[in-house]
Amino acid sequence: MKIICIGRNYSEHAKELGNAIPDEPVIFMKPKNALVTPGMNFYYPAFTNELHYEGELVYKISKNGKYIDGKYAWQYYAEITMGIDFTARDLQTELKKKGLPWEKSKAFDQSAVVGDFIRLEELPNKQNISFQLFKNGELVQDGQSENMLFKIDRILEDASQYFTLNIGDLIFTGTPPGVGEAIVGDVFEGFIEGEKVMELVVK
Ligand code: ZN
Repeated sequence: MKIICIGRNYSEHAKELGNAIPDEPVIFMKPKNALVTPGMNFYYPAFTNELHYEGELVYKISKNGKYIDGKYAWQYYAEITMGIDFTARDLQTELKKKGLPWEKSKAFDQSAVVGDFIRLEELPNKQNISFQLFKNGELVQDGQSENMLFKIDRILEDASQYFTLNIGDLIFTGTPPGVGEAIVGDVFEGFIEGEKVMELVVK
């Protein structure tokens, strides 16, 4: 199982970090040990002083595929949830400055939190999914999937040129604006179309 993530997929978020708008999906990966599923504990990592949350829609791959045509990409996923792409922003800034890979700041243990998956067919409009992240009861991110620069079908087409997609792989689709710091004691809750699918406490 692998976790494929998309960076800078909402122009408003790219702007808030001072990044250029990409002309093709920005892809990075996290290993299996990054995954935090419902019920698991999450601990603030020791190597950062600036842990950022990034609330994102997460799709689960339901069929193996390589060289997927975007027109048929809808056949490769059936479930979605909300997740948090945790980022050690201080470390990432340092690595970016040196032109080094991001992995230590993005792919560390427990950096990929997911909620409970729900079936896409239950949603009113699969083309425009509304999702929210709350921190300590306060709305911090409010996203619409139609604002993604690269929609899920295009992401699968692009990613599968390089990486075979396997059943159970997860796709983190990028974060809308509103990212910020997480500290010990924070409680995060994720919603899709008003339904709570994720809760996480930072320990
Ligand atoms: Zn992200």
